[in-house]
Amino acid sequence: MSNQVIKVSKEAMKAMQQHYARSLLSKKPPYTEFAAKVNGLTITAYSSGKVMFQGQGAEQEAARWGTNSTTPAKKKAQTGVLPEGFANWSVIGSDEVGNGSYFGPVTVCAAYVNNANIPLLKKLGVRDSKELQDVQIRKLAEVIKETIPYQLLIVPPKKYNEIQPKYNAVHMKVALHNQAIYLLLNKIAPEKPDAILIDQFTPEANYKKYVRNEQHQVKEKLYFITKGEQYHLAVAAASIVSRAAFLEELDKASEELGFKAPSGAGNTADLAAAKVLQKGGRTLLANYAKLHFTNTEKAEKIVARQK
Ligand code: MN
Repeated sequence: MSNQVIKVSKEAMKAMQQHYARSLLSKKPPYTEFAAKVNGLTITAYSSGKVMFQGQGAEQEAARWGTNSTTPAKKKAQTGVLPEGFANWSVIGSDEVGNGSYFGPVTVCAAYVNNANIPLLKKLGVRDSKELQDVQIRKLAEVIKETIPYQLLIVPPKKYNEIQPKYNAVHMKVALHNQAIYLLLNKIAPEKPDAILIDQFTPEANYKKYVRNEQHQVKEKLYFITKGEQYHLAVAAASIVSRAAFLEELDKASEELGFKAPSGAGNTADLAAAKVLQKGGRTLLANYAKLHFTNTEKAEKIVARQK
């Protein structure tokens, strides 16, 4: 079965949706604009602009609409952000997960994708984790870990709460990305990557300011770009591994607590935190949640109301 992914503009995607209007599926998967089935060929259009063609004739059908997905990255590179052909370089990519979630750790992963491994990773289905569901992310993470060198760092809530007063969230992320990359560079030595791509979370100057406090500073060949997973598979792989680790830690927390530790920082987090507070106060909550979030106060108010 062939499989083809292209990247299209918003306008092109609208035109496609009209073109396939008669073949649209009533159910559309998360993060998609539409899904259609034409003569056994499945077409899935993601909100990110990527369109996947799966099944017989995928290549021909995709060719009607555009070229393959490496094109936009190259285009962008020509505007001066990343060098041309970057998607095919040997790259260490890094990404983090959990920073915006009240419950659970912050996880950071750096992954090394050698140019020779790019086709294999594509074949394995490594791509932007926003296009993947949690089940797929967990499975893919296992495969990635067996296939390429990586360095995963996990900061459990307890440790996070100890560090947080000294390190703001950005500073902490800089330290973690730097450390993961440094350790991975040592793992793959004497091999050296062509570049290191960090999924950007702060302006470059800010990153460089904070990294000066670190004992082992990685400063060479650094590139920063938002939505990094779209520019190199190394970031996509790092993102999948860190997301899977985050989910696994949340699972462990849920098991220990006897109820679900939710992801995110919304109302469900407040309610779950209130339950933890009732069980063991802030001391217990410190093991599971990032206490400096406003969720803590909200949870305390819920508890006070119930008394
Ligand atoms: Mn990121």
